[in-house]
Amino acid sequence: GNIWRPKNTSEKLERHLQFTGGCVYTRFPPEPNGYLHIGHAKALFVNFGLAKERVGKCYLRYDDTNPEAEKQEYIDHIREIVDWMGWKPFKVTYSSDYFQELYDLAVELIKRGYAYVDHQTPEEIKSFRESKTESPWRNRPIAESLKLFDEMRRGLMEEGKATLRMKQDMKSENPNMFDLIAYRIKYTPHPHAGDKWCIYPSYDYTHCIVDSLENITHSLCTLEFEIRRPSYYWLLEALDLYHPYVWEYSRLSITNTVLSKRKLNRLVREKWVDGWDDPRLMTLAGLKRRGFTPDAINAFVRDVGITRSDGSMIRLEKIEHYVREDLNKKSRRVMVVLKPLKVVIKNMEENAVSNLRAKYWPDAADDDDKLHYEVPFSKVVYIESSDFRIKDSKDYYGLSLGKTVMLRYAFPIKCVDVVYAEDKTTVVEVHAEYDPAKSIKPKGVIHWVAEPSCGTQPLKVEVRLFDTLFLSENPGELDNWLADLNPNSKTTVAEAFAVPVLRHACLGDQFQFERLGYFCVDQDNGCVIYKN
Ligand code: ATP
Ligand code: MG
Ligand code: MG
Repeated sequence: GNIWRPKNTSEKLERHLQFTGGCVYTRFPPEPNGYLHIGHAKALFVNFGLAKERVGKCYLRYDDTNPEAEKQEYIDHIREIVDWMGWKPFKVTYSSDYFQELYDLAVELIKRGYAYVDHQTPEEIKSFRESKTESPWRNRPIAESLKLFDEMRRGLMEEGKATLRMKQDMKSENPNMFDLIAYRIKYTPHPHAGDKWCIYPSYDYTHCIVDSLENITHSLCTLEFEIRRPSYYWLLEALDLYHPYVWEYSRLSITNTVLSKRKLNRLVREKWVDGWDDPRLMTLAGLKRRGFTPDAINAFVRDVGITRSDGSMIRLEKIEHYVREDLNKKSRRVMVVLKPLKVVIKNMEENAVSNLRAKYWPDAADDDDKLHYEVPFSKVVYIESSDFRIKDSKDYYGLSLGKTVMLRYAFPIKCVDVVYAEDKTTVVEVHAEYDPAKSIKPKGVIHWVAEPSCGTQPLKVEVRLFDTLFLSENPGELDNWLADLNPNSKTTVAEAFAVPVLRHACLGDQFQFERLGYFCVDQDNGCVIYKN
């Protein structure tokens, strides 16, 4: 079915589209108080995707009404990562671009008798709301509120001494109608609006008005905002403004990680991770460094779907499945040995090096050089330690004493002897004989890397392997969620051996290391690679 039209809302949606002439306007409204995460990929898909499907337009709107939490770094990052995700905003706007209009509308709201300047403390507001009691300032004269609101704006009142509250419904069933705050005083400069203002509008006051001013047809948000819908409509009605159609969808949650920006902020600030783009985080910047592609992320969110059914946790494996499917098509195969075991080929000459051809792609045509790379084969080769055992067994396809395996793209080798370490149990070197005629076809095929010339070690790369950041499936639910961090979420292999061609790899290049998994070149020194 059509993911944009859940059964119970399709009729309303059609009616609304008739009203707007079939043209859809949506907005993606992040608050610039952190980096975007995989949940935002869903919100991006919902908003930009709906606009695209209906040949409409989608704004990128910074919902920047809390200057203390917001930073230019986040504004810049969001712009960049939305672009990386492949979405093209119709316009980039800021809620703060509308501060003057919002202020003028607040004055109008007071004049209409729908707002008042209040002096209750946060504690008083809370306890009065609990007993559904009106603030003593609620029915003060309109002229008095107008004068005080003007003083608030001009910086004549101390922070915390006054707020502007909407005169909603203190007897409502819905606590989100209990005279929500429209403006508060904050002597904090704003990352976009500068130091022009010392009063700032609240989310509840701002969001619906800016939606309306931007002619948003579909204001799509996550389910926790559903309870705020009456207030959203109330304010637009009080000001005689156009109503967008509001529709909520479920938030995306993923197992073994946290997505709330409050928690992500804490992980970064307290250095539990290495910055917002740590590959173990489900931030889009982290996923990018880890080699996840926008195609894979978008295929994943499309598959998860956009529903109102309360989003149960989506398993991490699900997104990994989409990443592998995508990278399988896009990444070249190369050979890297993570834990090298030295193999000396006894029947090979000391200085002989031959250049063999290896395939970047399993189905590469033999005559297509671009789909192949050169790999040196010499007397000393390295295989994965885990591909060697002293004793053979039935389901084992690696090398063992007396047994033959195939070195991929090269020759069969037979193990004839081993050299033990002083402990007499650890094998430090394997002696083998190769079969240049390839007269036998062993079942087991393993990856390897050779010395490029006699006595020279292969190219070394640092490889980082990742496991989940948290041990339990839903760490966000735990009281002490930081105690659930996985102590082994990151393993660094300082010196893996790689085929020489990897020397030319560039930042962001994707590879499949044969028999190991997908890796991506990271930013620090060109040879640092991540596993998916
Ligand atoms: P957080 O609680 O993590 O701070 P937020 O909702 O405050 O999230 P915003 O930056 O304001 O974060 O979000 C921008 C848009 O992305 C909003 O429409 C929000 O509903 C949506 N969004 C945020 N998190 C998710 C999620 N996990 N799944 C789907 N949409 C999300
Ligand atoms: Mg928000
Ligand atoms: Mg938030």
